[in-house]
Amino acid sequence: MPNDHYATLGVDRRASADEIKKAYRRLAREHHPDANRHDPESAERFKKIGVAYQALSDPEKRRRYDLYGDGGEPDLGDFSGLSDLFSSFFGGATGASPRGGAGQRGADIVADIEITLEDAAAGVERDVEITTQVECSECAGSGAAPGTFPSACLDCNGSGEIHEVRRTFFGNVMTASTCYRCGGTGRQVLDPCRVCSGAGRVQTTETLTVGVPAGIENGSQMRITGRGGAGLRGGPTGNFYVTVRVAEHPVFKRGGEDLGCEVSVPMTVAALGGSVDVPTLDGSERVDVAPGTQSGVVVKLKNKGMPRLDGRGRGEIVAWLRVETPRNLTEEQKDLLARFATARNEEVGDQSLFGRIKEAFH
Ligand SMILES: [Zn+2]
Ligand SMILES: [Zn+2]
Repeated sequence: MPNDHYATLGVDRRASADEIKKAYRRLAREHHPDANRHDPESAERFKKIGVAYQALSDPEKRRRYDLYGDGGEPDLGDFSGLSDLFSSFFGGATGASPRGGAGQRGADIVADIEITLEDAAAGVERDVEITTQVECSECAGSGAAPGTFPSACLDCNGSGEIHEVRRTFFGNVMTASTCYRCGGTGRQVLDPCRVCSGAGRVQTTETLTVGVPAGIENGSQMRITGRGGAGLRGGPTGNFYVTVRVAEHPVFKRGGEDLGCEVSVPMTVAALGGSVDVPTLDGSERVDVAPGTQSGVVVKLKNKGMPRLDGRGRGEIVAWLRVETPRNLTEEQKDLLARFATARNEEVGDQSLFGRIKEAFH
């Protein structure tokens, strides 16, 4: 028989309920994942022992198991009990039980960092100070004073759960609830560690260096696996999540991998042609301006934008040219522009609408 519950518990087929219970307690303690932290197979054995005990500790189930073997138990009326049983012993789809002997996952830690656009373009390393929980070194995370060991909770036999069989319309239904005495931890610390007061973890401040990749977007969240709080009773460590804020830039507006900016062009350069400096992330680049350029003309600098996260090149800088109307003119400059206007038959000064309004007031 592939799954002989009697063999699993090491008892005879005629064993009494008490013998089965004793065998289960001894084996559960021996194969408890807490006591076998370096043996990944202990959790599997622990589960198997639990399943065997579930099948044999209930007289009705045991009778059915004796008659029909593994396949005869549980019957259809027990389907809800089966899912309870499986979720409590196999922890649902993930395989890690959130409570009971399999340990509790450590807390996730979240932090925000703000970097400049230049840092986002080049990639940067940042030190982040976090407050986290680490395994207590005094008791190696057990919570028990050095030289002592936590014992299995007597109420739940170390499983962290109390199983009850209820008779319902559909037949016997097994329900599992968190053990009240141990709060679902499955164990009792009789002599708690003095450093962590039995918690198994202590709070500490750590500095983590976060490598921000070049091209990261504002608001991106990075996950640093296994750098969160320590787990309990051998449970996995939580993760560290960093949200990266990219500060507003005085010159550039970002659109994905492209950078937009505005470049003012003197009126004379726009009219006669010439060149202007277009800013880049590491300086500027001189670009030609064609004669007769209007406001709103776009100049693009290929490969000067933000790097792509996949490392395949960079976006572009998109510069909008804005023709600048000169201000604070000297008398000589005014005279020159007035003559220019006359040459183009353009009405300026007192002949303008503004001049006519002024006249109406005098
Ligand atoms: Zn401790
Ligand atoms: Zn308990």
